[in-house]
Amino acid sequence: MSRLNALGKALAVLALVVSGQLFAKTTKPNIIVILTDDQGYADVGFNGSKDIITPNIDRIANEGTRFTNGYVTYAVCGPSRAGLLTGRYQGRFGFGRNPIIDPADPMAGLPVEEKMVSEVLKPVGYSSSIIGKWHMGSHEKFHPNNRGFEHFYGFLSGGHRYFPEELIYQDEAQSLGQNEHKSPSSSWYHTKIIRNQKTVETSTYLTDELSREALEFIDSKKDQPFFLYLAYNAPHAPLQAPKRYLKRNKHIKDKKRQIYASMITAVDDGVGNLLAKLQELGIDDNTLIFFLSDNGGASKSSAKNSPLRGVKGDFFEGGIRVPFAIRWPGKVPQGIDYNKPVSSLDILATIVEVTGAAIDKDKPLDGVNLLPYITGKNTGLPHEVLFWRSFDSKVLATRRGDMKTITSPEFGNHLYNLSNDLAERHDLSDKQKQIFEQQQAAMQQWQSQLKDPIFRKLTDGAIKAANRKNNAKKAKERIERSTGAQGY
Ligand code: CA
Repeated sequence: MSRLNALGKALAVLALVVSGQLFAKTTKPNIIVILTDDQGYADVGFNGSKDIITPNIDRIANEGTRFTNGYVTYAVCGPSRAGLLTGRYQGRFGFGRNPIIDPADPMAGLPVEEKMVSEVLKPVGYSSSIIGKWHMGSHEKFHPNNRGFEHFYGFLSGGHRYFPEELIYQDEAQSLGQNEHKSPSSSWYHTKIIRNQKTVETSTYLTDELSREALEFIDSKKDQPFFLYLAYNAPHAPLQAPKRYLKRNKHIKDKKRQIYASMITAVDDGVGNLLAKLQELGIDDNTLIFFLSDNGGASKSSAKNSPLRGVKGDFFEGGIRVPFAIRWPGKVPQGIDYNKPVSSLDILATIVEVTGAAIDKDKPLDGVNLLPYITGKNTGLPHEVLFWRSFDSKVLATRRGDMKTITSPEFGNHLYNLSNDLAERHDLSDKQKQIFEQQQAAMQQWQSQLKDPIFRKLTDGAIKAANRKNNAKKAKERIERSTGAQGY
């Protein structure tokens, strides 16, 4: 080949690469995952809430597709988020409990060997932002800026106070030395907000801060594909809301629920402004949005998961089935329900499909691309079986079709048919032994692929021995309170 020919070929290849990149930049969809914290299944307008009014969040479901059987992979924050962000069951990499908040602990976080959505999207040209609650490790090696997120605004721990005057510590390390709060574990609720590596002085209600930052991020990235993980900590405890939101929930007489509802009102306003921003920038049609909660509503927040049984922390439906919707104008069917079981694991699998991102072959995703299912191209089940495991309590659950098992060393074996027993009251494990055993066998097979937790618990060092004794009793009381449950 002559030098001229070789040069011509090289130029042609270069032109293809450049045009491919330009093409990619203009056509790759923006992706937004809006995650709320401990929002009950029933506490959103699109699932029928009458007292908590969410017109903007409802737009995601009404202008997109609502998942009536949408699950997360765990019933509390940390493990659920680890599943969502990696698209893999978190037990595969030892994230089977909430990690302790300790910046000196290089184990307490999402292992760097696992790729998060931000790391998966980076090679295909995405800029990623996490705004809100991280909870994937407070050691430097787990910092969002070291995990594929070029922008971070929020806090590293598992929960936060909402009023700016209460944010007093420079970081988690400083907060851990303080003893004047209710418990050592709640002292990190008082850290200042950080943008990337720097402390920021805030002056507004935290939820509004997060919403404002989200708009700024979108504005700054309007000309290139972005991934925004907007992880509101609302309406997670502590119950705190300013008067302007309380006023709009005057119709709710129960004080606790009024505050809880007001926290959701703030999120809903933020979602409304975000949707308006996409429209204003002309990128609405090119933006795929997921909305969901990280686990079920908590009883102490007056959340409602009805008609589901159970609350945050258990594997009844109320702990793991969440408000869940997807919106992408022109691509996702508008105003329909998708009723087959889907999982937060499917979010990354869907993202990979629509962005052309690559996944490590030795770490396959547990989710599926949801688009063929919701458009009706694929009429099968997205998942043959879904699984849940709590390593510490040894509670296990499976769902195959409409049949749901829950087993627990403390409360025994249970099998429910959700098609006619959504509240999980009628145990069929004796009557339909074969189905129960089939699902148990699948559970055994799945469990054999999991690792024990690789880090200390969130509560290690925070719960006194006396409290530990009461835990079993408290757990039983909590279950008795949930959705008319009797005797688990
Ligand atoms: Ca949560």
